[in-house]
Amino acid sequence: MNLALPDGVAYERGDDGYEAARRATVWNARLPDRFPDVIVQAHTEADVVAAFRFAAEHSHRVGVRSGGHSWAANHVRDGGVLLDVSRLDALAVDPATMTATGGPGRKGHEMCAALADQGLFFPAGHCKGVAVGGYLLQGGYGWNGRVLGPACQSVIGLDVVTADGEQVFADADHIQGNPSAEVEVRTAPDGTILGSPRLVKSSGVKAWDEAVLRAIEKTEVMPRDVDGRVPAPLLIELRPKR
Ligand SMILES: Cc1cc2nc3c(=O)[nH]c(=O)nc-3n(C[C@H](O)[C@H](O)[C@H](O)COP(=O)(O)OP(=O)(O)OC[C@H]3O[C@@H](n4cnc5c(N)ncnc54)[C@H](O)[C@@H]3O)c2cc1C
Repeated sequence: MNLALPDGVAYERGDDGYEAARRATVWNARLPDRFPDVIVQAHTEADVVAAFRFAAEHSHRVGVRSGGHSWAANHVRDGGVLLDVSRLDALAVDPATMTATGGPGRKGHEMCAALADQGLFFPAGHCKGVAVGGYLLQGGYGWNGRVLGPACQSVIGLDVVTADGEQVFADADHIQGNPSAEVEVRTAPDGTILGSPRLVKSSGVKAWDEAVLRAIEKTEVMPRDVDGRVPAPLLIELRPKR
């Protein structure tokens, strides 16, 4: 395996330690019979970049694990790379700006305890052990959520590693152009989307246009208006919240 990690550890299927590393990625006893080709335990951001570059070179899919609290253990796939980022759990709190910077492996309850020391708060989940990485993507309903909204609304920016291994910082000030796309959606009277949504006005950012179309296709049924009807066709403008 030509995977050179700057700091982390990698196991191929059959290696000593592979099974322990696989088991450690799931929080309970429901470990599925699915076996990645390679398990990477990242210790630094550079390991994450190296793992994604390796995966891209070998056409591997990547499953990512932060706290391992997915009930379906959907990060544990057959084949490909299982990237365990639970060790990226540093947390720095800045009381002056009332912000914190943390790794995806940081557990919500630990984060709240550190913030409470400074009189601050983040709407983390109710369960000990759920980590920020997966919580922001597939959870987000925490203490005081009805006041503060889902946890992603309290996020200022993210360090992201793209599928080809480029590390970028993403926040509201780093969006190129004005990525507002307009899409026409045709619906049946009950709101069921008919056919594919049509891009009426491109945002000028191909990735944003594609994400908008995918999101609408996944929606399948549009909600009814206050009069109980779904206007058709619907013209929807989608842009990131600023
Ligand atoms: C006992 C229990 C209690 C819970 N309580 C709450 C609650 O109070 N509120 C709430 O909103 N949710 C709750 N959840 C749901 C929980 O928020 C989600 O399951 C969440 O996705 C778990 O995050 P994780 O990082 O621990 O899990 P993981 O299994 O590591 O990740 C979950 C998913 O996110 C993906 N993922 C994780 N990290 C990354 C990353 N860095 N980059 C890209 N993808 C990533 C994984 O591939 C996987 O698909 C609870 C779950 C359990 C099991």
